[in-house]
Amino acid sequence: MSSTSEPAGTPEPAEAEPVECTWRAPGRVNLIGEHTDYNDGFCLPMAIPHGCTATVSPLAEPVLEVVSVQREGPVEIALDELAPGALSDDDEWAGYVAGVAWALRERGHEFAGLSITVDSDVPVGAGLSSSAALGCSVAAALNDHLGLGLDRPELVSVARQAENDFVGAPTGGMDQLASIFGERNRVLLCDMRTLDVEPVPFDLEAAGLTLLVIDTKAPHQLTDGLYGERRDACEQAARLLGVPALRDLGLEELSDAMDRLPDETLRKRARHVITENDRTLACADLLRTGQLRQIGPLLTASHASMRDDFEITVPEVDLAVEVLLAFGAFGARMTGGGFGGCVIGLMEPAQARAAALAVVAAYAGRDYVEPVSFTVTAVDGAHRLD
Ligand code: ADP
Ligand code: MG
Repeated sequence: MSSTSEPAGTPEPAEAEPVECTWRAPGRVNLIGEHTDYNDGFCLPMAIPHGCTATVSPLAEPVLEVVSVQREGPVEIALDELAPGALSDDDEWAGYVAGVAWALRERGHEFAGLSITVDSDVPVGAGLSSSAALGCSVAAALNDHLGLGLDRPELVSVARQAENDFVGAPTGGMDQLASIFGERNRVLLCDMRTLDVEPVPFDLEAAGLTLLVIDTKAPHQLTDGLYGERRDACEQAARLLGVPALRDLGLEELSDAMDRLPDETLRKRARHVITENDRTLACADLLRTGQLRQIGPLLTASHASMRDDFEITVPEVDLAVEVLLAFGAFGARMTGGGFGGCVIGLMEPAQARAAALAVVAAYAGRDYVEPVSFTVTAVDGAHRLD
């Protein structure tokens, strides 16, 4: 039938399947609950406006081509060589992408050649989970492009498997939950044993508050062993205390646990996790009833616990927390895996600028690298961009 004989308004012939598919997944700020995830405990992250976009398109050749706008050159892997260990150290970053494709294939999802391009504005290695933003954007885009129909918990699991088993970073899964399940004006109470996620109201604007983030620029490196060391200590403490994980001990068992652990380092590590789980649940309780300001002391106590018991802060981070508190923050703490990275401060918007400038001045006085600051709100998790 010629087009002229068609009645007016007849749609054009169906267009070819779209060849590109783009998804965006956010980074996250963990409001409280640090190093509790791998102890089967509780954490309270939120997705932030910074994120990663991943675009997937088909390729004729049987290769996976990985491009990052933030890195040089594409990395190419033959599909039949796609396995952990396939990448050189220089190309390790591409493992967060290739690892997702590998994890999908491990689950029986086959695919032909693909090109995946990522573009992220999440600061790398700053504790805002650029890695989960990357992995989750790719998992969501591949799921859509290949028509796999995976649900959100499966996307979390695939992105986590890429990070744990392909890249080899033994992280605990909170980051992927936040990036996939994030909700506007909500933090997510995550039970890392059941992987249940409860969105809890956290409307900063309505409460007349802002969450200031200071990227201290102090180096942070999860894969250099310190994270694994903390993880091992927690597992050892749980074993000695005869529980599956430290999550199984509440505050009421703390003093008995302290009596039973044989050395001071294990006592400190366990005390952080046990008290941090308690603080996280208390924080969620306050937020459920709209008491945003009142969580301040819990945030600050969490920082002290990370500094003194878990020993994962660095001087830059401790200084930023001190300055934010001196400049009127209701509470302040390091967020993320630690040994550098970002500090958050809950404060009134009118105070944020002066507080951020005061941190810059304090750093200049000590010859630290100049920090960068911005504010964040809680946003929606992974979503398709059209
Ligand atoms: P964080 O998740 O806190 O930012 P990680 O060490 O877990 O820190 O992850 C950072 C790693 O993620 C980088 O070293 C790099 O391998 C990878 N990555 C993150 N964003 C990008 C990007 N835009 N392009 C390439 N690699 C990235
Ligand atoms: Mg990470």
